[in-house]
Amino acid sequence: MMLGLGVGAVLLGGAAHGAFYRNSPIFGRPISRLAGADRAVALTFDDGPNPDATPVVLDALAARGVKATFFILGRHAEHWPDLVKRVADEGHAIGNHGYFHRKLQFKSPSYVRQDLALGTAAIERASHVKPSLFRAPHGFRSPWVTAIARSFGQQTVGWSLGVWDSDRPGVESIARRTVEGAKPGSILLLHDGDGYDPSGDRMQTAHAIPLIVDRLLAQGYRFDLLDAA
Ligand SMILES: [Zn+2]
Repeated sequence: MMLGLGVGAVLLGGAAHGAFYRNSPIFGRPISRLAGADRAVALTFDDGPNPDATPVVLDALAARGVKATFFILGRHAEHWPDLVKRVADEGHAIGNHGYFHRKLQFKSPSYVRQDLALGTAAIERASHVKPSLFRAPHGFRSPWVTAIARSFGQQTVGWSLGVWDSDRPGVESIARRTVEGAKPGSILLLHDGDGYDPSGDRMQTAHAIPLIVDRLLAQGYRFDLLDAA
């Protein structure tokens, strides 16, 4: 009886760790930093496309010849398929962020499978790109999320540094937190969309991108795309 309780507590503790820590290896190890990267970082954007912020982000990246990885939300891709196509056409990588943006850690396997399938289909319809990466909303996973993503041919990605740009702390704060927190190999998480509002305001993030890119370039960084291993 005591042993049973103990084992249960360990399992529960393990499950909580895997669900709430985006880079936890317990539910399958996600990519959380660039492998073997010296002075490289990866810029990643979640929750787009967004009709206002995404074009500004794309313009800033194009002007500097920098590529990023966009984790597209299927629901938003259906609103603005042309923006998804533009992301792909301009040479950026596209990952799946699911469709509904519900936290997945307590959802059933069939719910997770449907969410990932709808997200994948919306991306493919808009851009003809078959995504090979997946990032869970808020990074929350369960024992089956990573495996289901793999069954779609999508490797699960975490991140090294988030700067709470969704809270809109100001353009300079977003830029400073990102630049000061970046290290060789960092996967930087930013948001060109609002996961809960298709036209939510992400202009602070959009306007921070030129500052972030220029300052990191000045420090000798390059920007790598995420590639599925
Ligand atoms: Zn998200």
